[in-house]
Amino acid sequence: MDVSALKRDLDGLKLDDNPAIVQQKSRDFYWYSPVLKQQLDHVTGDLIVTPKTEAELIRVLAACHRHGVPVTPRGSGTGNYGQAMPLSGGVVLNLAEMNEIKSVAPGRVVTGPGAVLADIDKATRAHSGQELRLSPSTYNTASIGGFIAGGSGGVGSINFGGLRDFGNVLRLRVVTMEAEPKALELTGEDLHKVTHAYGTNGIITEVEMPLTAAYDWVDVIVGFDAFMDAARYGNALACQDGILTKLITPIAAPVPQLYFKRHQKFFREGQSICVVMVAQHGVDAFLAFTRLAGGEVIFNAATATPEEKKGLPPAYELAWNHTTLRALRVDPDITYLQSLYPFPNQLALVEKMDAMFPGEVFSHLEFVRLDGNITCFGLPLVKFTTEARLDEIVRLHEDNGCPIFNPHRYTLEEGGMKQTDAVQLAFKRETDPQGLLNPGKMIAWENPDYDYRSGRTFLFKGLQKAG
Ligand SMILES: Cc1cc2nc3c(=O)[nH]c(=O)nc-3n(C[C@H](O)[C@H](O)[C@H](O)COP(=O)(O)OP(=O)(O)OC[C@H]3O[C@@H](n4cnc5c(N)ncnc54)[C@H](O)[C@@H]3O)c2cc1C
Repeated sequence: MDVSALKRDLDGLKLDDNPAIVQQKSRDFYWYSPVLKQQLDHVTGDLIVTPKTEAELIRVLAACHRHGVPVTPRGSGTGNYGQAMPLSGGVVLNLAEMNEIKSVAPGRVVTGPGAVLADIDKATRAHSGQELRLSPSTYNTASIGGFIAGGSGGVGSINFGGLRDFGNVLRLRVVTMEAEPKALELTGEDLHKVTHAYGTNGIITEVEMPLTAAYDWVDVIVGFDAFMDAARYGNALACQDGILTKLITPIAAPVPQLYFKRHQKFFREGQSICVVMVAQHGVDAFLAFTRLAGGEVIFNAATATPEEKKGLPPAYELAWNHTTLRALRVDPDITYLQSLYPFPNQLALVEKMDAMFPGEVFSHLEFVRLDGNITCFGLPLVKFTTEARLDEIVRLHEDNGCPIFNPHRYTLEEGGMKQTDAVQLAFKRETDPQGLLNPGKMIAWENPDYDYRSGRTFLFKGLQKAG
């Protein structure tokens, strides 16, 4: 790999080869996993390139193609499976400066890939009282391109499902990795080739996302003496058709008491909680429902004093992968899993799994709308001992009918969110014939004998038609 020759070809673009900076920008939140931490700690790229326009980006890809240099795209680097880490070195393509918010219209927004989610909402709220349908809990830092290429859903999934669902991404402009890179405009089912593909089959240079009405969201925390009461409450609240919520997150004791440092003053010992974001106009109805359901409101941002609210993070930063982050800050031996409790047996499955690993696995649920039904994902915290035990906990979930999307694997297939198949592979051959985009992340590409018909559950399903 002749990086000096590449640098000469990229003269005039924003480059950085300071080893400390390159290493920093070659990392994401892979260290969430003790397994990935060990496997990926040494990984670093050779050069950071920061294009400001699609024309500059095309210049970078053409030059890298000419020199046979791998390219790993990066938004904000908050992915937590090593998605944005350059396993074969080469260029880390920093998209943070392609962050223009280009247009806003009723129901849609067009932006560059590097636009930060919170900045998009700020612009769409100011323009016409609209906001994105879905955001990861890294709302304040993550880029829209990184969310589409590396994320799955999050805050808002209780109403709209996930990024895998038709209609939650409207259009993507994607540049290919060829001698003369092409810009493709993808819509409809073609979008599924690129969502959650870790940038292995094209660089997203423009996104068009659907918008929904923006409301003032009120953070509320409801307390329960038993975790299953919090879980049943979360399920029942999610099924209330008239109460508009954006987040419903039951979390088992002692997670809140041990790890939610800034909120600790609100929790009683042994209390499990449900963290909720509810639209301001729905607060009265929500409080009435909660009272009847036997929940105790222990924090309500609408009525809390400025003193009580001082220094508190927003509710969504207690939820989704932020729950794990807060635990890791206190106890570095904590890790986590990602599970699905399939409808209609979600509560029975939650109860069974919650009882199976006392003192070792702590339940954390996220209620979502999935294929038209209310159910929940789990992001349980796990007290890590050995990799073998972690694998056993995974197996026990799967044996009991709870699919695991394994966050301790860096390939698309082993992670289990995205199913690759012949259609995906054909698209990769078309867009990246030399296999230079984020190498090492798609097993189907690396190993021609790989059998992708595993029969397991994938969140982002394959594209091949059945039969
Ligand atoms: C504390 C915490 C909370 C999180 N909460 C959630 C959550 O609620 N929901 C969720 O889905 N995820 C969550 N995540 C994972 C991650 O934050 C999200 O996936 C996030 O949206 C990634 O955005 P990013 O800009 O940081 O992407 P990066 O980490 O920079 O990139 C993610 C992937 O996309 C690729 N990529 C980036 N930009 C492009 C582009 N323009 N074209 C092609 N490929 C590209 C990268 O190569 C990488 O494979 C969380 C992570 C952390 C650490």
